[in-house]
Amino acid sequence: MLISFVLPCYNEAENVRPMHDWIVETMQSSGFDYEMVFVDDGSRDETYAKLKEIYQTTAAHVRVVRFSRNFGKESAIFAGLQYAAGDIVTLIDADLQQSPVLAREMAEFLRDNDAYDCVAAFQSQRREGKVTAFLKNGFYKLMNRVTEIEFVQGASDFRTMRRSMVDAILSMTEHNRFSKGIFSWVGFATRYVPYVPEDRHAGSTKWNTWKLFKYAFDGIVSFTTMPLRLSAFAGVAAALGSLVYMLVIIIQKICFGIAVPGYATLVVLILLLGGIQLFGMGILGEYLAKTYVESKRRPIYLAREILDSSSLR
Ligand code: UDP
Ligand code: MG
Repeated sequence: MLISFVLPCYNEAENVRPMHDWIVETMQSSGFDYEMVFVDDGSRDETYAKLKEIYQTTAAHVRVVRFSRNFGKESAIFAGLQYAAGDIVTLIDADLQQSPVLAREMAEFLRDNDAYDCVAAFQSQRREGKVTAFLKNGFYKLMNRVTEIEFVQGASDFRTMRRSMVDAILSMTEHNRFSKGIFSWVGFATRYVPYVPEDRHAGSTKWNTWKLFKYAFDGIVSFTTMPLRLSAFAGVAAALGSLVYMLVIIIQKICFGIAVPGYATLVVLILLLGGIQLFGMGILGEYLAKTYVESKRRPIYLAREILDSSSLR
């Protein structure tokens, strides 16, 4: 049984060699055949040089895809899955935060349990601050409520899956690749196992608060059209509200002779409705923009160089 490791790498020069060695050490006595597909996602450091070095010494079980620029981890995962030949494929980070030992256990589980197609690791202990954890929990709750797919708290891209699931993921050629959504959208029987990420070996994380927000937002837009309906609801609510208010004013005027307060009411209403309208248009624009990008049907990534000794591809 061949197991492929897919490793997206962006500025991981000091990590790729130790990671490669760790995988070799773990897999050597495992009884599995194994290979590694490194995807250099347009790194600006020595990552590619290091990968080339690894390839030249161990070409038999290493493949390298080098992107023409940084396309993002989601695209790197897609490319990696394309080049992975395994019966079982593991997605794993290149920064040594996720252990190949667990990956091997996941593969063993799949080998021994026909009923499952995928083993996904989720972070059982989060290391982030209270605010981030609160926001992330809120995001998962929201996603589970507004989309028909299921999101598991803390589930990462660290997972091992069977060929059938890999092919299903590859058949999704959309441009906005929100992988958490894609993994659960394709379905398949997935078992979740807890893990605690190690410390990053070298280099730094590519995430910051702004990127996380953007990611969450893209995820929502990619996997539900609920926000569009939301703006329709807001419109209906505003219209009903104004009807009621109109009645109140008329009754006040006719029955009690109370003068209608003019200026303040107008300003508040104009601002409120203007705000709601802009909000609705913004949401509409977001979906339109995504549709626009998808309609161009651009490739998900562009490769600059490919190191692959197998003649099959
Ligand atoms: N990564 C990538 N392209 C990017 C950003 C990240 O291929 O644009 C890779 C990165 O090299 C690492 C993995 O994705 O192997 C996870 O990234 P990171 O460690 O920054 O995320 P974290 O572990 O902090 O969630
Ligand atoms: Mg990391």
